Amino acid sequence: MIKEIQSKSLLRKHNKVDSWFLARYGMNLYRGCQHNCAYCDGRAEGYYVDGEFGEDIAVKVNAPSLLRRELDPRRKRVPLKKGFIMLGGGVGDSYQPAELKYKLTQQILEILFAENWPVHILTKSTAVKRDLDIIKKINEKTRAIVSFSLSSVDDHLCTIFEPGVPTATARLETISFFKDNGIACGIYLMPVIPFISDTPDMISAVMQKARDHKVDFLVFGGMTIKPGRQREHYMKILNNTFPELVDKYEKLYLNDKWGSAAGDYYIRIHQLFSSLVLEFKIPPRMPQPLFQNFLAQDDQVIVILEHIDYLLKLQGIKSNYGYAAYQLLKLAEPLTSIKHRLNRIKGVGDKIARVINEILETGTASLYQDLISKYTSTV
Ligand code: SF4
Repeated sequence: MIKEIQSKSLLRKHNKVDSWFLARYGMNLYRGCQHNCAYCDGRAEGYYVDGEFGEDIAVKVNAPSLLRRELDPRRKRVPLKKGFIMLGGGVGDSYQPAELKYKLTQQILEILFAENWPVHILTKSTAVKRDLDIIKKINEKTRAIVSFSLSSVDDHLCTIFEPGVPTATARLETISFFKDNGIACGIYLMPVIPFISDTPDMISAVMQKARDHKVDFLVFGGMTIKPGRQREHYMKILNNTFPELVDKYEKLYLNDKWGSAAGDYYIRIHQLFSSLVLEFKIPPRMPQPLFQNFLAQDDQVIVILEHIDYLLKLQGIKSNYGYAAYQLLKLAEPLTSIKHRLNRIKGVGDKIARVINEILETGTASLYQDLISKYTSTV
């Protein structure tokens, strides 16, 4: 059932620009998702989506007027920070079937274009093609990135685990469509499905397709299954389709409240990912040219430190860069005002302070460029 609602607010400010999606702000135009993916954590109780997640959709029909108001600088005591506005993820895909009727995403994109905001769209739907014109206009003015999430490139598996969305093949074709139109595209290979799409062959198949379709980056992540509605729904589908795996899941997901897998599962799949992504030479994080100039200076420092941290860890090297980034987030003053005492901040030290100063002075760091160059194809 579709229910039209008047929401009180729209823009969600993130505590920090996350280094996966590069989003400063996000929004949900819909609550509930007709795509109804088996593993979707939007149906977990913690997100407070009422009703049957895949069928009962709340539509924020006043979203465009809310956004105009929330972006209006005259209404702000503290100006909004620079950064990408993310459309997608959360508790409902912005291009689920309801969008074809309500066109909220399209109206939001028009507003973001008028107000000069860069946009990152994450979807599983090919319906995003409808908005090519406005996406191109945003990209010419600031930046628009269109990313797709996949759990595999096996179309049969898609029909089981992502019953309401076009097949992986159709999503990959949509990537080519946007690339041909000059729009940068990423793949979020999230989540890989334990014992099904987390194998070397399955991950290699995604990477090969990513290369074939010239994606700009590929971000990887494992599955979480939170106890309650999410777990019940997923296990019901698993029991109907792969009953032989039910015991293995019971042992892997031990009802941790965050839904995390037990033991070293995530370490193992990341080790596998790290060797494959190096072989296929696909950047495992959004490359800097795509976000350069679109973040506030301190946010850019944090993102680059987190990217360095991730790239080092992918190569099996111990890193303090993530911890240093975490400590910088607690500071009230701008980094440029404390350049000479950065090394005294907990977790930073001389070496990381030099990297931070290099980023502040040049916009990047040679260590970062060296690390990311390993994932850049010269072909
Ligand atoms: S498309 Fe995204 S939000 Fe919608 S059901 Fe699938 S995982 Fe959840």
